[in-house]
Amino acid sequence: MGKQYAVIGLGRFGSSIAKELVNLGNEVLGIDIDEEAVDELSDDLTHAVVADATDEEVLKSLGLRNFDCAIVAIGDDIQSSIMVALVLKDMGVKTVVAKALSELHGKVLDKIGVDRVVYPERDMGVRVAHQLVSPNLLDYIEISKEYTIAELSVPQALSGKSLKELDPRAKYGCSIVAIHKQDGVIIAPASTDVIHEKDVMVIIGTNAQIEEFESEVI
Ligand code: ADP
Repeated sequence: MGKQYAVIGLGRFGSSIAKELVNLGNEVLGIDIDEEAVDELSDDLTHAVVADATDEEVLKSLGLRNFDCAIVAIGDDIQSSIMVALVLKDMGVKTVVAKALSELHGKVLDKIGVDRVVYPERDMGVRVAHQLVSPNLLDYIEISKEYTIAELSVPQALSGKSLKELDPRAKYGCSIVAIHKQDGVIIAPASTDVIHEKDVMVIIGTNAQIEEFESEVI
């Protein structure tokens, strides 16, 4: 069963979240002060309304209190972003997510009780930098400051090798926990499993271990 989301601010970030939430089977109310932004999305979202979200009465009349989650995706106007987030928390919306433009903006959002503060430009910049430095890196999740799960594409030079031959755990301390193949995924692969070009290895370890594995093996 889908949930009810409200997305406030339908710029590039907000509209992308709103459309994807609909694709994932949820009900989405989009709110923007700008009529054009609302018109552009009105066919894609469950509801889209033109309103100034800094007006508490407007948010109340739209029944925002009963939504599962509200996302504040207001762009440059930091003051409005903070005011809207505050009103939403005050109204008792269960989960409030807000986009921060700077560390300071994020700190304020944190202080007023926003449940999740996201920094899309900063985080995407960091991701792209990682991918530029490691061309085989497709994606990664930082589990902690030290540990990462990374998806690495298998280069031609490693095609046909078994995990026993690679032996990353003994040599580098990191482990291959899954292999994506064109016809499916092998979870917890055995040492006899063989990787091929175009497969994707999912590897877990410290950042240093993964870096060493990448630079020596790939
Ligand atoms: P992005 O970087 O995501 O494209 P923008 O600044 O272009 O960010 O988009 C933010 C959106 O938020 C704009 O469409 C703007 O009209 C909307 N917005 C700004 N202030 C308010 C407000 N008080 N109420 C509702 N929407 C607002």
